[in-house]
Amino acid sequence: MAKRTLTGTSLDTLVSLAKRRGFVFQSSEIYGGLSSVWDYGPVGVELKRNVKDAWWKSIVRGRDDVVGIDASILMHPDVWVASGHLAGFSDPLVECKECHRRYREDQVEGDGCPNCGGAFGPARQFNLLLKTFLGPVEDEAATVYLRPETAQAMFVNFENVQTTSRKKIPFGIAQIGKSFRNEITPGNFTFRTREFEQMEMEYFCEPGTDDEWHDYWMNWSMDWFKSHGIRGEKLLLRVHEADELPHYSKASADVEYEFPWGWGELETISNRTDYDLKAHTEKSGKDLSYFDDQQKKRYVPFVVEPAMGADRSALAFLADAYDEEGEGKQQRVVLRFHPDIAPFQVAVLPLSRNEKLVPTARRVYDVLREQFNTQYDDSQSIGRRYRRQDEIGTPLCVTIDFETVEKDNAVTIRNRDKMEQVRVSIENLESAIRDQLNAIRVDCQG
Ligand code: ATP
Repeated sequence: MAKRTLTGTSLDTLVSLAKRRGFVFQSSEIYGGLSSVWDYGPVGVELKRNVKDAWWKSIVRGRDDVVGIDASILMHPDVWVASGHLAGFSDPLVECKECHRRYREDQVEGDGCPNCGGAFGPARQFNLLLKTFLGPVEDEAATVYLRPETAQAMFVNFENVQTTSRKKIPFGIAQIGKSFRNEITPGNFTFRTREFEQMEMEYFCEPGTDDEWHDYWMNWSMDWFKSHGIRGEKLLLRVHEADELPHYSKASADVEYEFPWGWGELETISNRTDYDLKAHTEKSGKDLSYFDDQQKKRYVPFVVEPAMGADRSALAFLADAYDEEGEGKQQRVVLRFHPDIAPFQVAVLPLSRNEKLVPTARRVYDVLREQFNTQYDDSQSIGRRYRRQDEIGTPLCVTIDFETVEKDNAVTIRNRDKMEQVRVSIENLESAIRDQLNAIRVDCQG
């Protein structure tokens, strides 16, 4: 595991780094911002994309028993009747009798209102579905919902996907996409927002094999985070008590990460049984059972679901990578991302903007960007540029100097973690970078 000097940091530090370096900005900032809504900047978008790509690569492209879909955010309103969301997707809301602020009851610490200390009125259930209207008439008949989870699209497309992909059970359907929940108390930066992205996979299996698959996907999920660089001691798997299980679940467990404010959920792995397929069969009239042609029997598959948040995961990767080391002039902030998660893998830095250096530096950049996500940076001193790359977690910097063009046709590779610099001929640069990135990958295993 890449060594860390710090064990953790404050949320304020992460929020200000995120703003300063272009990870995350407040939405509509020039209008005063929209509360708890965030935009990813040029560096953050690469981080979040890498998180999603790494997951997709592991769970879809890296296996032959999972296929992907990309479904619409808007679905037929009956989907949410059948799934139980319309009737039951709610959180307990309490309102302060004095200042009238509203809170999610299970998230309030102590007895009184956190704002003014006033007493709360009785709790009531508040539905989290966000509504809109489809078409030119805003009436009941035109009401649709922004999906609160991506999962339902996998259930309602079960037969389409199974027959076209010719997958046999057990197999899974995965999707990455936006979901919306009208959360009562969003907060903790990008941890809880009303618009967010999920990475979900529904694994369809034969009833009776579901407990085994549940174990399998819980282990898989923990391993996924660790193998992409999250420290093992900052992760735990928390099995749900019977009274906290959602209505569709026989068993659930959360992968939690120790954020600056405490432990928080990154992912839930649930055994959803045959609840959803049966509910949609009943509501739509379409039989969603499966004929197992080897065993010559028909059954409604059980479903095990790893459901992960892309934004929460990206925030956990950011928090976990954060480190500070050195003193005085040597002091630096460094993000020790796994190379597959780091926004950029390589930065090409000409020693200066001197016209002798630029053509070679651009040539090196053009070659490297074909293979690696590469940034070109020629502004300010080389020392400041190293610091900047450390602060966005770029594993390797390649420097082009006068010796490169006048003498040896070689460049310097600087390693983010070891701070070692090695000189490599341009001819061998690609393979040297590949080797160093692989070494950092091994070093980053949680
Ligand atoms: P919580 O208990 O924190 O409200 P949940 O248990 O309702 O979350 P799930 O329905 O299991 O969440 O959703 C799966 C994943 O989607 C969560 O583990 C989380 O990573 C992500 N997620 C859910 N709600 C939000 C949100 N409001 N903002 C950001 N990510 C979210």
